[in-house]
Amino acid sequence: MTAQKIDIKSLSFEELGAFLHELSLPRFRTSQVFDWLHQKQVTSFTEMTNLSKKLIEQLDERAYITTHTIQRKLVSKIDGTVKYLFSLPDGSLCESVVMTYQHGKSICISTQIGCRMGCSFCASTKAGFVRHMTPSEIIEQLYAAQRDLGERIGHIVLMGIGEPLDNYDNVLKFLHLVSDERGANLSLRHVSLSTCGLVDRIDKLADEQLGLTLSVSLHAPNDRIRNQTMPISLKWPIEELIDVCKRYAEKTSRRISFEYALIAGLNDSDACADELAQRLRGMLCHVNLIPVNEIRETTYRKSQKERIYAFQQRLLHHGINATVRRTLGVDISAACGQLRREQLK
Ligand code: SAH
Repeated sequence: MTAQKIDIKSLSFEELGAFLHELSLPRFRTSQVFDWLHQKQVTSFTEMTNLSKKLIEQLDERAYITTHTIQRKLVSKIDGTVKYLFSLPDGSLCESVVMTYQHGKSICISTQIGCRMGCSFCASTKAGFVRHMTPSEIIEQLYAAQRDLGERIGHIVLMGIGEPLDNYDNVLKFLHLVSDERGANLSLRHVSLSTCGLVDRIDKLADEQLGLTLSVSLHAPNDRIRNQTMPISLKWPIEELIDVCKRYAEKTSRRISFEYALIAGLNDSDACADELAQRLRGMLCHVNLIPVNEIRETTYRKSQKERIYAFQQRLLHHGINATVRRTLGVDISAACGQLRREQLK
């Protein structure tokens, strides 16, 4: 029967209204139910105490509330970073990480079960792609973490497992849901979306004018190197990627953030820094340098600290805004996707 039930937490306010109308319920019920689902973030209809028993039964019969179970939880003793492995009703696993910054808590969430982008340095892609996540499965990572921690998380980064723009429609629905003032009410100014560079979808996203921050995983200054690590670059060459980023920045007036994981001997030379600076010249952007997270499946090694800072200096010298990302939760390190991968084995 479950298969025919409505995934109620994936419905927009308007869709929820239409669904409740079908059940012959008055309009004010929409606000009540939406509030229970997205503001109070309950996990069962019985918790909706201002609904009649009959109505609760009716909802239970027709719909379900997506709820994640904590399969594993790791807490860093160094900085309090919390890593969750959630299990979903169909047995799928997904990972989310909560980090604490000066401005408050931020959660890194997944958008797909597995990933099909195939980046050679990334653990998320090694076990392959299973399926897209639904809007409710994406948003429930935030709600489940908030329930567990007993506090509000004000920032979201779509940087967990999966390629958000490969699951475009569900991710967009999630963004509308999470920012709905009648629900979770989290401003999209506090959301970053990271992509490996699906050029056509970046154009589409720019037109949505959502006000979120776009992060682009660049990791190389040219196609020769990028083709070795990121198969997406065979489809969308770096020149087209940079062009669409320029269009995005112009259309939205938002600064693009470029992710650049430094891999010793591969993409971390001065010549690479110069070439990168050349490409980004004149653009509203920021480069985030990250020592590559060494995963078991590859032989890639982190660049030395001195090399990382030399690379940064070189970019700064060319007038490119660049920072080295602080690594959080090193004691529970497990790069993105590693927890899920261990569990699958
Ligand atoms: N698919 C999206 C978002 C998920 S990955 C994307 O590609 O952007 C989030 C970020 O982590 C991306 O910048 C990705 O390239 C980076 N990443 C993946 N594996 C990494 C590793 N081993 N070391 C450092 N960064 C890594």
